[in-house]
Amino acid sequence: MNYESTRGSQIKKTGAQAIVQGIAEDKGLYVPEAIPALPLKIKDMVGRSYKEIAHAIIGSYFDDFTEQEMDYCINGAYDEKFTASDVVEIKEAGGAHFLELYHGKTAAFKDMALSILPYLMTTSMKKEGVTDKVCILTATSGDTGKAALEGFADVEGTEIIVFYPTGGVSQVQERQMVSQEGANTHVFAIRGNFDDAQTGVKKIFNDDDFAAQLAAKGVKLSSANSINVGRLVPQVAYYVYSYVKLVERGVIADGEPMNVVVPTGNFGNILAAYYAKEMGVPINKFICASNDNKVLTDFINTGVYDIRPETRGFCCTNSPSMDILISSNLERLLYLLSGRDGAAVKGWMENLDADKVYEVSEGVREALNGFYGGFATENYTLSAIGKMWAENGYLMDTHTAVAYKVYQDYKAQTGDETPTVIASTASAYKFAESVATAIGIGPCADGFAYVAALEQATGVKVPYGLKDLDKKPVLHTGVVDAAAMADAVKGSL
Ligand SMILES: *Cc1c(COP(=O)(O)O)cnc(C)c1O
Repeated sequence: MNYESTRGSQIKKTGAQAIVQGIAEDKGLYVPEAIPALPLKIKDMVGRSYKEIAHAIIGSYFDDFTEQEMDYCINGAYDEKFTASDVVEIKEAGGAHFLELYHGKTAAFKDMALSILPYLMTTSMKKEGVTDKVCILTATSGDTGKAALEGFADVEGTEIIVFYPTGGVSQVQERQMVSQEGANTHVFAIRGNFDDAQTGVKKIFNDDDFAAQLAAKGVKLSSANSINVGRLVPQVAYYVYSYVKLVERGVIADGEPMNVVVPTGNFGNILAAYYAKEMGVPINKFICASNDNKVLTDFINTGVYDIRPETRGFCCTNSPSMDILISSNLERLLYLLSGRDGAAVKGWMENLDADKVYEVSEGVREALNGFYGGFATENYTLSAIGKMWAENGYLMDTHTAVAYKVYQDYKAQTGDETPTVIASTASAYKFAESVATAIGIGPCADGFAYVAALEQATGVKVPYGLKDLDKKPVLHTGVVDAAAMADAVKGSL
């Protein structure tokens, strides 16, 4: 299986090369040259463990890895760091099946991919004979940063540098990052929002002079953001797994469709669901849920991707991990929906850069009809949490609540009763203040007091990664302008 860029340069890479490199030479994103079919029949996956299914799915994309190499990656990633009975849980509440992806070390779904990425990365480095140090540059809206830090802390041959928007993450998320231990970890707050951080990181990646300076020091840049195909592929596994579990539980018969709802930011998670469908999982509708930053809702409805400042401003919401206007992974979907038309994708992305707007072709617009786009305001998000807790005793975080509210809107509009999986992307405790407020607790002194009060009131256990966070010393204090990110990188190496 080779990988090619979404922007048409036609240079083929192996999986290992694409993982190490992160982003393609022509600034495009790597995609498999053909999406593999499911390596096993659904009925033959029934009863298998998460690890077995993940091995089969991830292995089918990275077939340049030997069985032993893939075993090493899977076993290293999905071990007792995950406290769920089988890495993830699927729980039924309020007429939906919640796929809880947050039982890893940092209590967000980012752990699903970022637990395995360091293994995929270091194995790829070995395979490719990379002797340079690989420096992982990461822009985060809150959850990727911590999960990447945990994954790469003290991993030999790597440095990890994280940029997060100051004031753009919850108090719990911030303390998780700035208390990170590990000699190779570096964390900076930037003055700006997530898009500024992501744009800054992309700029550094595309700066050839900078790359040459680092190369002279024996350093190579790579990415832990979902632009890295090593992030995307592991996420496909849990959509296959969910379908298998719904069949196993008799919710659907083998071959019958399910819907998928994903609270969406950078479009990585929902794209993984789309890949699962392309592999052969019967998915009927992809329900793309946004918060007030509803660029994707409008895009799905109109075919116009519009982030011009006169059209919309950037909103800081109570689901901060989705406070994003530039959804990088949409590029990979457009590549597929346009019939792998790299020139067209390149044109749209250049329009976005230059004019902050683009309109896709009629063909792509029609192909988007497998998607439903909706959004939930902050107030609707909070009332969804309150109602779900009161009626079902099920605690949702703000991002999952956005997804649930949009799902309810979808059902009301369409009457579609297809069994539905909702990606549940974070523990409620990461956003304790909002969640506590939604169920009528507080006010409390600070974010940590909300964590304690929420546990007291609900009896839902605080995840181990968030325990005693307020007592952890702050080890990273750097704050930089978005324009000074390159200097921060140089200073860290
Ligand atoms: C990152 C994140 C999202 C958005 O996921 P994408 O793959 O970027 O679309 C949603 N919810 C939470 C809690 C997240 O951390």
